[in-house]
Amino acid sequence: MRPIKIIDRSQDERFMREALTLAAEGAVRGEVPVGAVLVQDGEIIGRGFNCPISTHDPSAHAEMVAIRAAALDLRNYRLPGSTLYVTLEPCSMCAGLIVHSRIARIVYGATEPKAGVVVSRGQFFAQEFLNHRVLVEGGLLAQECGAVLSAFFKARRSS
Ligand SMILES: [Zn+2]
Repeated sequence: MRPIKIIDRSQDERFMREALTLAAEGAVRGEVPVGAVLVQDGEIIGRGFNCPISTHDPSAHAEMVAIRAAALDLRNYRLPGSTLYVTLEPCSMCAGLIVHSRIARIVYGATEPKAGVVVSRGQFFAQEFLNHRVLVEGGLLAQECGAVLSAFFKARRSS
């Protein structure tokens, strides 16, 4: 039997604020501002912001960038026991990646009514066929996470 790990939520807000800072970096570059950090044992092991336009890479979502960075750094294609903080509800691509990476928990901020697959467009992580269970928590700093996006789109419309 695997040992039961007690989830430490005391730092959740701090890590989500880190993800928000990354989202803002994306906005500066003209990318839709979404940020993510991956945390293991209380330490950030991967950072990313959405950047598909500037990198000519349709897979360069914040989650993908953060997970790739962590896996490469740790020289391990699996990231057990880690928690992913992302400012926006993940899409189907990233949700799939989260399962493949064996991430233990994800915490997201704002919901994404169009493409989010955690609660908005289905419940990806609840599917029976998945061989790995991910603990999902949403709505952390949701207002701030959503405001970064609204401000970005508002500025883009008026420019
Ligand atoms: Zn995605």
